[in-house]
Amino acid sequence: MAETDCLFCKIGRGEVPASRLLETDDVLAFRDINPQAPVHILIIPREHIASLGEVDESRAALVGKLHLAARELARRAGLDSQGWRVVTNVGVDAGQTVPHLHLHLLGGRAMHWPPG
Ligand code: 5GP
Ligand code: ZN
Repeated sequence: MAETDCLFCKIGRGEVPASRLLETDDVLAFRDINPQAPVHILIIPREHIASLGEVDESRAALVGKLHLAARELARRAGLDSQGWRVVTNVGVDAGQTVPHLHLHLLGGRAMHWPPG
């Protein structure tokens, strides 16, 4: 998919509105439009990467920054005492619906395992 057509690239460029919570040169975080928990935040690289399945060593620092953003947002959301979850879906079996790498940060309720 071209970056011009990608929903999360459009959010990154400000062409589609989103409730933005954190922005750096590399990373953007915003609230999921269909939250599955009291806290449900999406964390994306500004660069268009289809999924974690497309990432190689050259993106190691970027993958680290995505996780550090999740850690910071969890702290800001007051989740540290009760815990939180980070999920990234890759491909059809995982149920990925937006082909732009994103971490889901979920918290504010008890989670189940296995996730289904
Ligand atoms: P996936 O299923 O690819 O792992 O996750 C995609 C997520 O993007 C879903 O949780 C879905 O609710 C969210 N989403 C889809 N469209 C939009 C949108 O236009 N704005 C926001 N903020 N989230 C979206
Ligand atoms: Zn994209």
